[in-house]
Formats: sequence, structure tokens, C-alpha cells
Amino acid sequence: MEDLKSHAIVKTHELALKGKNRPWFMRKLTDNLRTATKGSGVERVWQGQLMVGLTLSDEECWPEVKSRIKDVFGVAKFYKAYEMPRDLDDLKKRLPRMLEGRSFNSFRITTNRADKRYPMKSEEFNRDLGAFLKDLTGAQVILKNPDISIYVDIQPKSFLVYFDEVKAHGGLPVGVSGKVAVMLSGGIDSPVAAWQMMKRGCQAMFVHFHSYPLVDRTSIEKAVDLVEHLTRHQYESNLFLAPLGEIQKKIILSAPPSYRVVLYRRFMVRITEVLAKRNRAQAIITGESCGQVASQTLENIAVVDQSAGMPILRPLIGTNKEEIVSMAQAIDTFTISILPDQDCCTLFVPKHPETKADLNTVLRLEESLSVDEMVQEAVENTERRHFAS
Ligand code: ATP
Ligand code: MG
Repeated sequence: MEDLKSHAIVKTHELALKGKNRPWFMRKLTDNLRTATKGSGVERVWQGQLMVGLTLSDEECWPEVKSRIKDVFGVAKFYKAYEMPRDLDDLKKRLPRMLEGRSFNSFRITTNRADKRYPMKSEEFNRDLGAFLKDLTGAQVILKNPDISIYVDIQPKSFLVYFDEVKAHGGLPVGVSGKVAVMLSGGIDSPVAAWQMMKRGCQAMFVHFHSYPLVDRTSIEKAVDLVEHLTRHQYESNLFLAPLGEIQKKIILSAPPSYRVVLYRRFMVRITEVLAKRNRAQAIITGESCGQVASQTLENIAVVDQSAGMPILRPLIGTNKEEIVSMAQAIDTFTISILPDQDCCTLFVPKHPETKADLNTVLRLEESLSVDEMVQEAVENTERRHFAS
């Protein structure tokens, strides 16, 4: 199809398009697609009727453009389309060549008259082109699950013709749902939780707690790698590296071993909240799942939540470990997450952490700590790293 201009045609889920948010959603999606495909051979990104088009400089760039579009949330499916003259007879001449090498016994033609001034109605167009193709190939018209679907979009100056659907993640374009602060360990779960929130349109900022220099920097390196990887979905990220070591030292001096983990967590949440508010994030995200480890009981969750002044969301709360592992594999964070590290949470952790932490006990233990100062000091010593894809 050397002589034809080609485009990527991007479609969203219909449901996501309902209501008055639609123009904003489509504009954000268009912006994100433009950023995602920068330098990949896309000449122009344009908004059509219920779709976004990306004009390709040539067909060679399609594999790269395709892999970039796949990572853009809000894209449900997309196609490579050919632009041709707005002439049905010309289309009939070209169609056999376009379908070369494809064998099918059934087909369906779906015409969308984006330009309503076109004289033929969509159904009429479907019937006319359908009859032609039936004669040409002997294949039957089937509307449900045909072997091949042929789409014709009637634009003001051209037809866009396309066949093969590429599935993407759907969801909402990053940015339409506001910002969240993800507590990112180096483990398997929190990157998956981050990915899920990004898929729901949230811009993520990341907070990683480390106990360097009490332990080595491996958990920091993993957090950096994970953020680098996840940035492909939002093009720009900030990672906050917050020190927990000094706080942990104070906690072990004043609290019984079984309460250490829940106290660490309450401090992590408070520090994350300060960083979140400074950066206009509206919720804290963790990778916890109900009952997965001793600290993730409903009792402990309640005690941790009590320390927060903003919602703590736990997108993985109802998932099994195996499910989280397969998601981590699918989004390519698994290999980073399983590298060995020295996480701050492995430091000074008792054999038997409390599974039913009692809030009054926790509050009493915190009375002997200068909580606000400790939080403030950790915030001041937090290092910010910026990532751009
Ligand atoms: P993950 O696989 O995400 O590490 P986990 O199963 O190891 O989770 P925990 O260690 O109990 O579970 O951590 C629960 C959640 O607390 C994590 O998913 C993460 O959101 C947060 N968290 C734990 N450690 C850290 C850390 N060092 N820095 C930032 N957040 C952390
Ligand atoms: Mg962990």
C-alpha cells in the first residue's frame, strides 16, 4: 500500500466516553498519545469523531508506534488504517490487493459516516461494498464474529479503511483522575497497585522508604528501576526517597518488638501524606492485600488508617498472591521486583509481629515519641528524583 498514507486509529471504550467529561477525556488522550509517540515517526495527532488518529510518516514506523500506543491508558483498541480517495469505485479497485494473503469465509463491513454530507447512508454503503466483496471472494456476510471485519470511516476528504484490531488496556487517560501518592517498596505488589491506579487515570508520584546507610542501597535501586519502567505510562514521574532508619532506631528503643511494624507503617503514612499534600496528590496507594502477611489484617489496617488525614486506597486488597504475580509478569515489573534487596521493613522486624494491633496501645507508645519532629526531619531529608520517558 506504498502509495497510500497510513494512520493509527485509536478507539476508547464507549462507557468511558459518557457524559460531560468526554471532551476533556478526549483532549487528554490526544495529548498523551502525542507525548507517547514523540520521535517514533508520527507526523500529526488529530481528534476525530469518537477516535484519535495518528498520521504515520511511513509504514516502517508502525511497529514502534504500535508498541507505544499499547502503553497509553484510555486506549481500548487501535488499528492501522489506510487513507484513500473518497470514491467507492476506487475502493473496490484497491480492496482485492489490500486483502491479499488473507483467507476468510465470512466478513462484515462497518461503515461510519463521520462526514454526514456523504450522499450514501452507512447501511447502503455496507450493502453495496458487501455485495461486491461477496461476489469477489465467495465469503458470506456475518455480523457476529466474522473471520474479518472491514471498517470504512468516511472522512470529509477521504476514506479510512482498516481491518486488524490491536487490543490495549482501556481505562482512562493518565491525568483525568487527579494525582495519587504510591508507597512503592521494591516488592511485587506495590508496582502492580501503581499500575492499576494509573490505568484508572491517576498520575502517580512515588514514595520509597529506605534505611540507608543501615542497610545497602539495593531497595533504592529497585525503586528507581520500577519508576523508570512505570513512567512509560505517564511520561514523567517523581520518586521521593525518604529515610526511615532514624525513625526505626527510635521506635525500637521505645516500643515492644511486636508493635514495630505497625508503628513503622504509621510513620510511613504520615511522611507520605506530607509529601502528597505538597505535591497536590489526593490519596495514598499501597500494595496491601487482605491477610497476605501478618501486618495486613483488618485490625492493623484500621490502626494504620487512623494515622492518615487522606484516603489510603489499596487496589489489591481482594486479590490473591498468584493473581498479583501474574499481573506483575504481564506488566513486566516482576523481574525487577524479585531481585534480592535489603528493604527497610526487614530491619529490626520481630519474628511475631502483632496481628491485632490495639489503637490505644499504639497511641500510648507514640506519646513517648516526638512524632511531628520525626516526620518533619524525614521529610526534610527526602531526596526527589525526576524521571521523563
Ligand atoms: P510489596 O510487594 O509491595 O512490597 P508486601 O507484600 O511486601 O508488599 P508489606 O511489606 O507489608 O507487603 O508492605 C505493604 C505495603 O506497604 C506495600 O505494598 C507498599 O505499598 C508499602 N511499603 C512497604 N515497604 C515500603 C517501602 N520500603 N517504601 C514504600 N512503601 C512501602
Ligand atoms: Mg514488601
